[in-house]
Amino acid sequence: MFIFGWLNNTIMAMAITSSQEAIDLEEKYGAHNYHPLPVVLTRGEGVFLWDVEGKRYYDFLSAYSAVNQGHCHPRIINALTEQAKELTLTSRAFYNDKLGVAEKYVCDTFGYDKALFMNSGAEANETAIKLARKWGYTKKGIADNKAVIVVARKNFHGRTTTIISASSDPSARQGFGPFMPGFEVIDYDNVAALKNALINPNVCGLLIEPIQGEAGVYVPQAGYLKAAADLCKEHNVLLMMDEIQTGIARTGKMLASDHEMVRPDLLILGKALSGGVLPISVVLADDDIMLVIKPGEHGSTFGGNPLAAAVVVEALQVVKDENLAFHAAQLGELFRTRMNRLKEKTSLITLVRGKGLLNAIVINDTPESETAWNLCVQFAEAGLLAKPTHGNIIRLAPPLVITEEQVHECCDMIEAVIRNYKK
Ligand code: PLP
Repeated sequence: MFIFGWLNNTIMAMAITSSQEAIDLEEKYGAHNYHPLPVVLTRGEGVFLWDVEGKRYYDFLSAYSAVNQGHCHPRIINALTEQAKELTLTSRAFYNDKLGVAEKYVCDTFGYDKALFMNSGAEANETAIKLARKWGYTKKGIADNKAVIVVARKNFHGRTTTIISASSDPSARQGFGPFMPGFEVIDYDNVAALKNALINPNVCGLLIEPIQGEAGVYVPQAGYLKAAADLCKEHNVLLMMDEIQTGIARTGKMLASDHEMVRPDLLILGKALSGGVLPISVVLADDDIMLVIKPGEHGSTFGGNPLAAAVVVEALQVVKDENLAFHAAQLGELFRTRMNRLKEKTSLITLVRGKGLLNAIVINDTPESETAWNLCVQFAEAGLLAKPTHGNIIRLAPPLVITEEQVHECCDMIEAVIRNYKK
């Protein structure tokens, strides 16, 4: 019975021939913690994805900005496969010959003394929270268990129970309490609110995104990040910048913080650090902060594994060699110009916003409406994949290797769907 069940499963796994079959399997055997568009993907290359029926799509989500370098970049895949043949995991119980090289590489690239590698973005934020608290107790002199981290309304920093304790999104929190104390939520992009929050001497850190990606690509006013950095310095508070979605060239600079020449005390990166081939994240800081964590106080079995270390170096080198930040800045301008022109011709779009190739259009309907979802279904039918966020916002973020000609082609596709859309 068991053998037949196993055989049957193996044959089924090999025999996926239609999208519906794959969707049915996920629905039946997978947890229902996502609501995907009805597209089943099987292959990716550069800016393109293909479904199991062979239809080709432009990817305008880039796995939430994890594949900035494009799908299956040959150099990154080569680094992955070459290292996979040698050594993949040792745990940090021992040294390995790749981790130090990757640590030096990221420290040199971003200008910090030390790096702490983890896997998911949420884990990197957890790491940053622990670092800030420990720094608060050991360096700032905050009384035990009193440390506060200030966060912004509508933030997205991940899904762990501590991180959702800092969230203001009911769908992230509802039913998952009790929550971790020690977070104060203030309005984003509001210098007065920040000034007020930092008066509390127990504040050890300010954790923010330089652009709120999941909130719908909310770009703060020019000067906000700089003001936040100055206020943190004035109050001896660590500026903890979550650049998991905005970093690694996505917004037209290596870091979104670079637009205002802000250097965070804790820089948090993930996603495109691996070009989308492995979950790799990192926290960067100088010695006076990073060394507050002692051996045995924090870690992860997979964090800093040699496979990840080899991939990180190649994935970042690709970003530099292909000048992806400059490319994103230029093509982002073009994309927003085209979308703003479209906005003038339709009542369906109320706003176009973004930086570099992290952009969004706000749809003229309520967050509860189906309009943005239906538009994304029609984009998919036309051959372009995007996903709504918060109901009526569509984020548009292709891999940064997209060409100018392809941007025009995609804008034509978006324009055709929007102009022909009927409720
Ligand atoms: N922080 C930001 C800004 C993000 O956009 C995300 C993911 O979308 C995360 C943290 C969480 O990353 P992960 O899903 O790898 O845990």
